[in-house]
Amino acid sequence: MIKGITILGATGSIGVSTLDVVARHPDRFKVVALTANRNVKGILEQIQQVNPTYAVMKDPQAAATLRENLADIGSKTVVLEGVEGLCQVAALDEVDYLMAAIVGAAGLLPTMAGVKAGKRILLANKEALVMSGALFMDAVKASGAELLPIDSEHNAIFQCLPATHAVGLEASGVARILLTGSGGPFRATPIQDLSQVTPEQACAHPNWSMGRKISVDSATMMNKGLEYIEACWLFNASTDQVEVVVHPQSVVHSMVEYIDGSVIAQLGHPDMRTPIAYGLGWPDRIESGVPLLDLVKHGQLNFEAPDETRFPCLRLAREAMQSGDTASVILNAANEVAVDAFLSGQIPFTRIAGVIEDTLSQVSLMKPTDLDVVIGSDEQARCHAKQLLGK
Ligand code: NAD
Ligand code: MG
Repeated sequence: MIKGITILGATGSIGVSTLDVVARHPDRFKVVALTANRNVKGILEQIQQVNPTYAVMKDPQAAATLRENLADIGSKTVVLEGVEGLCQVAALDEVDYLMAAIVGAAGLLPTMAGVKAGKRILLANKEALVMSGALFMDAVKASGAELLPIDSEHNAIFQCLPATHAVGLEASGVARILLTGSGGPFRATPIQDLSQVTPEQACAHPNWSMGRKISVDSATMMNKGLEYIEACWLFNASTDQVEVVVHPQSVVHSMVEYIDGSVIAQLGHPDMRTPIAYGLGWPDRIESGVPLLDLVKHGQLNFEAPDETRFPCLRLAREAMQSGDTASVILNAANEVAVDAFLSGQIPFTRIAGVIEDTLSQVSLMKPTDLDVVIGSDEQARCHAKQLLGK
């Protein structure tokens, strides 16, 4: 039966790659809804290609413009707006699969709406899980939603784990999860030069083409920190069962080590269409458009330990996960504020970690008993981080 799909964050890097894979399988998938923040031009083109039932603009003004543009071309796509619109299309009856690809905390409520409605959740929006942790995983269990990681590392780990891993890592014979990361564009830049790097340099990732926020996160290695937290929640791993390994070529997407000494890795081109196709097709394998891997051409695969002096964000994320409570919420919120400030030229690259560390030391931790506590803590942390920046 054809599966109905909503793509949250359709105009972004993951959204565009998802539409590319979906277009290869018209017999399997039908796009029900597309969403964006305020990119009217981008979503208009996509609507003309896939003719969804709904389109949602988070920004009401952008929604009004889109409505006018669609009326001009006689399109029947219904335009909704705001967070309510995003949550509504995530939970529609005719939707089977939800691609959660909004960037940042803004994706939390719409993704949760899909989780609560018991959809197959294709999770790219790692910040949603980092923020809500146990609440997210409990909601998945309660609704019977299927959670498939799209983040390439977690998708790799999912592929390397036994199908029975829900019984627990130890019971499955798993010793460690080895989370690989490229080290980003500044892995070998002299440390004294880091304060001078520009947003353009930070966004020029050596292997992956991604949105600007995750590109900066990769450059600070906060992305690996968020992924460390993500891995702990997704695979019910303790904080010492996940280890970060730097692998500059981004060919090995992550590994699982078993107690008998076996290490199983997933390899491939650094192209998000592979994990996206895996999530869409699971348990089948479907074509993604990604070319076959020529390992001989690659020649070398290197591995090294992460340098937490160069990349303090990685340490901050690990410590936040270890502290528990709302520490990961505060970490994520302060990071979003700091990355924004760096991208708009207000702070140097090397100030990002400081803003996060100071915010973590100022905002008190709370028990994340429900989403309101999480959202409250997120707002409080943003406020503190902005104060630190003099905003
Ligand atoms: P992007 O910036 O390219 O796209 C973000 C999308 O979210 C856009 O469609 C935008 O319109 C929408 N959006 C932004 N702010 C919004 C808001 N406030 N409300 C509603 N919609 C909003 O980002 P991306 O690189 O595609 O990343 C999306 C998510 O996937 C992130 O959480 C990222 O960490 C994760 N991810 C991305 C990659 C990658 O290769 N790009 C890999 C792994 C994980
Ligand atoms: Mg990743």
